[in-house]
Amino acid sequence: MRTFQKSSKLENVCYDVRGPVLDEANRMQESGIDVLKLNIGNPAPFGFSAPEEVILDMIYTLRDSQGYSDSKGIFSARKAIMQYCQIKKIPNVTINDIYTGNGVSELINMVTQGLLDNGDEILVPSPDYPLWTGCVSLAGGTPVHYICDEQSEWYPDIEDIKSKITDKTKAIVLINPNNPTGAVYPKELLLEIVEIAREHELMIFSDEIYDRLVFDGIEHTSIASLAPDVFCITLNGLSKSHMIAGFRCGWMVLSGAKEKAKGYIEGLNMLSNMRLCSNVPGQAIIQTALGGYQSVNEYLMPGGRIYEQREYIYNAINDIPGLSAVKPKAAFYIFPKMDTKKFNILDDEKFALDLLKEKKVLITHGKGFNWGGPDHFRIVYLPSVEELRKATGKLRDFFAGYHQK
Ligand code: PLP
Repeated sequence: MRTFQKSSKLENVCYDVRGPVLDEANRMQESGIDVLKLNIGNPAPFGFSAPEEVILDMIYTLRDSQGYSDSKGIFSARKAIMQYCQIKKIPNVTINDIYTGNGVSELINMVTQGLLDNGDEILVPSPDYPLWTGCVSLAGGTPVHYICDEQSEWYPDIEDIKSKITDKTKAIVLINPNNPTGAVYPKELLLEIVEIAREHELMIFSDEIYDRLVFDGIEHTSIASLAPDVFCITLNGLSKSHMIAGFRCGWMVLSGAKEKAKGYIEGLNMLSNMRLCSNVPGQAIIQTALGGYQSVNEYLMPGGRIYEQREYIYNAINDIPGLSAVKPKAAFYIFPKMDTKKFNILDDEKFALDLLKEKKVLITHGKGFNWGGPDHFRIVYLPSVEELRKATGKLRDFFAGYHQK
């Protein structure tokens, strides 16, 4: 009998955030068990809604958005993104340097497929948003993880980056602000990374999807704004800042030393043409979304929902004996550390399953973010403070009696 197996291309691809623990949670839910889900960064199910203006705009433009667009996107969207680049001080961006995508996800796949030959290496942060590692592997490349250091606000460890560069390294990936740590990188650190890229002739991918979700008056700096002589691709989108993850609305911007990347850009254009275009109703709202008043800021100020949820989760986690966490400066994730000796944790996926089965709380274990040890997990703090209080109460009870077997 002929059977069908997954392609060998998928053999090294790891994408644990939607893996066996989530499957178990879904089985539990299907059998009627209520699971507190702190695992996916999707604002809409937690009572967040897009700004009304954005919804109205989509309805208004829907009739005119039925056909394919230019493969890179409609003019008004790309113009608005170009103006956003001006605000972010990314130099020298023309309409032609901008591509819309079905979320940043599609573009992460595109930029890695377009660049990598078997054996090429890309520096990827650990912990990371795991689609980067997965897509590098899928494209035949080798993800080489550099450490982000919890002792230094989860900033990338510059010496570790330097030590991992080989003659096969083509690029470095930055996720800034970071998922899962919530770190925002200061300008001085970004300058050091630019200097490394310059010296070793690497290109830079910067995933900045959380750049409009920063707390405490911190100003986000796009690394591309500091690297006019390095080829950069900056990725961004509306899934998080406008709470419309389901609309699949993202973009990428090429900047810096484009003359060094002519062949690669040809490849990107081909891949962009091959997917015809990103969804056009999603593109049609970009101009409205990026222009004018940014209502997301209200969530991020003291008294605002996401701000207060961050305060709550940060204090509650640090109050649980055996747990500690760095305060997130952006996004809506926290990445606590567990005292593995105290709880005898050797396997973080088993910990996640034990917690799920015992307390009906779903988190994502650190390995899902390509973190090396079994000592971390990620909480999405999008649920209300009331829900978070329930969840942290259960976590406290769980850890009070946990000793992994
Ligand atoms: N990049 C990061 C760092 C993310 O956290 C996510 C989603 O969680 C994405 C990209 C994907 O976003 P999109 O909805 O635009 O595909």
